[in-house]
Amino acid sequence: MKNKSILIRNANVLDYLPTDMDAQPAPRVELTDLRISGDKIVARGQNLEAIEGEEIRDINGRTIMPGLINGHHHLYSTLAPGMPAPKNTPRSFQDVLTEIWWKLDRCLDHEAVYKSAVAGAWDAMRCGTTMIFDHHSSLTCVSNSLDEIERGISEAGIRGCLCYEITDRGGLGSRDTTLDENRRYFTKEKNSNFRAIIGAHAGFTLEDRTLARLQEMTEELDCGIHIHLAEGTTDRDICIERGWDDPVSRLDKYGLLRRDTILAHCVDITDAEMALLDERGCWLVHNGRSNMNNSVGRAPVNKFPARSCFGTDGLDGNMWGELRSTFYRGNEAGEGELGLRKASEMWIGAYQMAREFFGEPFGSLDVGAPADFLICNEDQKTPLHSDNWLGMLLFAFHPWDILEVWCGGNKTYRRGDKSPFDGKLCREAAQRIWDGMEKL
Ligand SMILES: [Zn+2]
Repeated sequence: MKNKSILIRNANVLDYLPTDMDAQPAPRVELTDLRISGDKIVARGQNLEAIEGEEIRDINGRTIMPGLINGHHHLYSTLAPGMPAPKNTPRSFQDVLTEIWWKLDRCLDHEAVYKSAVAGAWDAMRCGTTMIFDHHSSLTCVSNSLDEIERGISEAGIRGCLCYEITDRGGLGSRDTTLDENRRYFTKEKNSNFRAIIGAHAGFTLEDRTLARLQEMTEELDCGIHIHLAEGTTDRDICIERGWDDPVSRLDKYGLLRRDTILAHCVDITDAEMALLDERGCWLVHNGRSNMNNSVGRAPVNKFPARSCFGTDGLDGNMWGELRSTFYRGNEAGEGELGLRKASEMWIGAYQMAREFFGEPFGSLDVGAPADFLICNEDQKTPLHSDNWLGMLLFAFHPWDILEVWCGGNKTYRRGDKSPFDGKLCREAAQRIWDGMEKL
């Protein structure tokens, strides 16, 4: 399938960025032809001359746009939907962690980690996603767990930037396995679909000695961290309780607020702290639906720096759903309004973040760009133009409008394809995990 030249004729192409890696966003829609060879787009223009032997497809004005990017996800929570309600009703965000997620992640074994990854990546891909920044945790099976995540994402056919959530909540020995797993995966040879970053759970489960270790590791490997920051008030409350600096200053003190650091949530952040995050140039990821579900408060998305994007934080992997929920929520009470300008900036921000981590011009569908895109159905109801693309993403396109998904020049999905996993075995694994959780 791969490496053969394919000419796609009459595509209504939406893309957001020129291929120049430092270019400013320039969203445009154009009816054109695209030639794909290997993992790249190699030609673009109207009425391209066919090359002998290449496959030709006329898609009759269907929309093509860059594959979607999830800036913060937890594939390990894929088998959670439907699990038994917690024995003790969570009354705070900390209760949500201790009663639900920290029980789930203790029950995962390698097989369940892999099944979660393949099934979750398959869900995300069918929603048009071709890259996931995953934040993994499976506290009783840490070693090599990132290989299982990689295997699952690979079988779905998409890309991932992976890490393990380093934490002190399991004690020193357990913490060391989380440090080792990050180092192992970061330094492992990976194919072009995968990158790594150093993961950390959240400041409030990290002792100072561990932040010092993270500082050493990020300096040695020259990379940032992917961490939850200020997801509700818990982070700050525990810092006060422990006599630590506030969560932002604390990360800064250990040199962890780098340009290649990814900060998820950032709900309980003051204006002065936001200014510091902006100055340091970290990436901020907004997880609107997860924030609502966990009652952690409204993130001040209207004040997020330019370097920000969206993530689903373990929910369904539907990035269009994430974008529109945040937009609607902003309009609901006139508080913390996202607005069209910020929505556009954050949507395109994900492609700029992907460029920095993968070194390829994602978000473009021009010559030299990775052939990562989705093709919509023929029955799109309203016309897409350069000046209404965001309105179309907010109101017109849904996962059921996706006909095909391509990643790295491979057609990884066509509507109606069978999943790459056995649903029955997946449900059995889920039941096994849920039974284990009830015993904790
Ligand atoms: Zn998260």
